[in-house]
Amino acid sequence: MIIAIDGTVSSGKSTAAKNVARELGLLYINTGLMYRAVAAYCLNSGVDTADKEKVASLAKELTIDLVNKEDGQHVLANGEDLTAQCKGPAVAKAVSDVADNVEVRKRLVAEQRRLGLAAKPGAVMEGRDIGSVVFPDADIKFFITAPPEVRAHRRCLEFRENGKDVPEEEVLRSILERDKRDRERPMGALIQLPEAIPLDTGDLTREEVTQKIVEHVNAARS
Ligand code: C5P
Repeated sequence: MIIAIDGTVSSGKSTAAKNVARELGLLYINTGLMYRAVAAYCLNSGVDTADKEKVASLAKELTIDLVNKEDGQHVLANGEDLTAQCKGPAVAKAVSDVADNVEVRKRLVAEQRRLGLAAKPGAVMEGRDIGSVVFPDADIKFFITAPPEVRAHRRCLEFRENGKDVPEEEVLRSILERDKRDRERPMGALIQLPEAIPLDTGDLTREEVTQKIVEHVNAARS
């Protein structure tokens, strides 16, 4: 079974996908982490992420593996664990170039399909183009979002927990910019498919989001 979870930046889709996978005994696949790993690998190899051809040829030689550990999903690029780097600001800045690269997308989409098909009894895949490109034939699709101000506020609280104080307007601006870039990407753009179940997490707790998704999946299975 393939559960496709797409949605806007900082909407709570990663947490939801992880929890749903755990509850249903499925493999969790964070596809954003794969794009981040390509970006990290470029930075470490001194390749400018804006150089489309260089990035594409580097991506062709790259083996990306996702490994589930106690502290969450890790990503390996040619065997090297780049997870910590993938969460840092340099990768966050460079990753959109990589995600806009059509050759990189072709490569990663093929890899993501392979991972999903190999997962038994199935996978919860999270990203932007899972329901539209990676698994248009997914068993069930969700589109997760929340009002931008709520997403910005949540992000700020997370930053604060990690000892960083970032103004909320700045976070809001960045979220809106990233949403725009996601929606305007030439291939694999974020779209709300008519068959995807919409879920606004604005007024919901993390547990409620997980429960709602699980309920929809169970209803679809019965
Ligand atoms: O979800 P996350 O923020 O980790 O994604 C990292 C980058 O990869 C973002 O720029 C996002 O738009 C992109 N991405 C993508 N397709 C996916 C998953 C993520 O283009 N399936």
